[in-house]
Amino acid sequence: MNDEPTRDQTMNDEPTHDEPLVIAIDGPAGAGKSTVGHALADRLGLRYLDTGAMYRAMTFAVQQRGIPEGDLAAVAAAAPSVEIAIEDGVVVVDGVDATAAIRGSEVTEGVSQVAANPAVRELLVRRQRAWVAEHGGGVVEGRDIGSVVFPDAPLKLYITASPRVRAERRVEQVGGDVDEVEASIIRRDRYDASREHSPLTEATDAVVVDTTGMSIDAVVSHIMRELEART
Ligand code: C5P
Repeated sequence: MNDEPTRDQTMNDEPTHDEPLVIAIDGPAGAGKSTVGHALADRLGLRYLDTGAMYRAMTFAVQQRGIPEGDLAAVAAAAPSVEIAIEDGVVVVDGVDATAAIRGSEVTEGVSQVAANPAVRELLVRRQRAWVAEHGGGVVEGRDIGSVVFPDAPLKLYITASPRVRAERRVEQVGGDVDEVEASIIRRDRYDASREHSPLTEATDAVVVDTTGMSIDAVVSHIMRELEART
């Protein structure tokens, strides 16, 4: 992922048959976006982009450099020089494998503040559009993908679940205390939904899928039917 000039303009034009297929997946923390997104990408033969990992990688770099996450100007000045490479789930930041560190509590607690920085968003959105252009489409997961990054995506999904269920799933995957994880999830959702730039929101034309009490297979089948109806 680099900072080459991108096809910003063309990505915002009306979709044509030559337009790469983009499936936009948004929703709050821990709703099952990654599991569902990977399953969809496999079925459709598309590549997968986890934009949350990009914001986490940027936060890791900011912390490594000793910059306070809330220092807007210092973070904005540092951001363009941060090299992020994501390949098959391995996240390399400035040449260091940060795959595990970006999921740790220090990054998780700092990421919303870094992601609220408009300079960081502008930079990473540019890299996300460049990635899609380079890979001929993809399943792209985040918070603002259907609303801001790819407003013309033919299928936009907003995947959600109750905070309790999301916390329980997180604890099953990575351990921890359910009450604490739930409180952290609620805090991050609030921050992400109330920020000024590109807040977490449902695109008006998004298909909302509440995965509380649904199996992954049921969710994926439901979404495949929606996709078939639209393409
Ligand atoms: O998806 P994940 O929980 O790993 O995202 C980490 C954080 O990155 C989110 O809480 C949010 O602050 C930020 N984010 C964002 N826009 C995206 C993806 C993630 O602001 N498109």
